[in-house]
Amino acid sequence: MVEVKIPRDHPRYWSLLLRERIVEGMKKGVVVPQGLIAHGRGECFDYIIGERTWPPAEEAVKAGVAAFLLAKHPVISVNGNTAVLVPREIVEFSELTGAKIEVNLFYRTREREEKIAQILYEHGAREVLGVGEDASATIPELHSERRRVSPRGILVADVVFVPLEDGDRTEALRRMGKTVVTVDLNPFSRTAQKANITIVDNIVRAMPLMIKYARELREKPRRELEKILENYDNKKILGSMIKIVLERLGELAEKGVFVDKG
Ligand code: ATP
Ligand code: MG
Repeated sequence: MVEVKIPRDHPRYWSLLLRERIVEGMKKGVVVPQGLIAHGRGECFDYIIGERTWPPAEEAVKAGVAAFLLAKHPVISVNGNTAVLVPREIVEFSELTGAKIEVNLFYRTREREEKIAQILYEHGAREVLGVGEDASATIPELHSERRRVSPRGILVADVVFVPLEDGDRTEALRRMGKTVVTVDLNPFSRTAQKANITIVDNIVRAMPLMIKYARELREKPRRELEKILENYDNKKILGSMIKIVLERLGELAEKGVFVDKG
């Protein structure tokens, strides 16, 4: 539970609530201090894009879901921030797409792994990989503790969902030939630039949308999903998101206010 009371009518109520959830996560030893800084970086970009989901992000969601539904071994990689912000949604998305869930941490300790797995189990996960001895395989060329992965999970995955992720890891996964889907509010980060499918949105808005599309698209024939992927161009999507940033900053510079076109 969040201890600090935030007035419901505060204009940035949701943002402040999320901030408190991250802080609580740190007090419980689930989120690391570096996770707080990453969250702040995300908030900054969310402010600029107006804390809403833009059409290019929705297109990336659709492509990411299609990639997951077509995958042989889809895996969702979970870190501290993700576990605190969207645990229920991670579990629901994994159920809908048949994806495995794996804990994967930059600052890996057995205790943190177990705490994150426990949050996921409390939200209905049937199996959580990457805890303790299960993380016995290694990703080549990665030097942080994050190189340790599960031989039943990320090691053999063809498509990996790595939200709120660091650039080194995204690059290493790409070099291993995996398709990387990410959620990252910063369209300039290396992760955003290197992933195959980049959803520039807050994870708390992106995950419910991914669930909605997973429900919808899993009823469709494979051919239709393949078409979505064939027509998807991540560079174009990233470019469109950066144009949105430019336009909004341009309006602010011209008129002194953001013009919300809805
Ligand atoms: P990179 O290593 O990819 O160049 P970085 O070092 O800035 O980027 P990391 O800490 O490695 O970033 O990864 C965290 C990323 O997650 C940041 O780009 C941050 O903007 C983003 N982020 C943080 N909170 C959220 C959130 N709630 N939703 C979406 N993205 C977020
Ligand atoms: Mg980084």
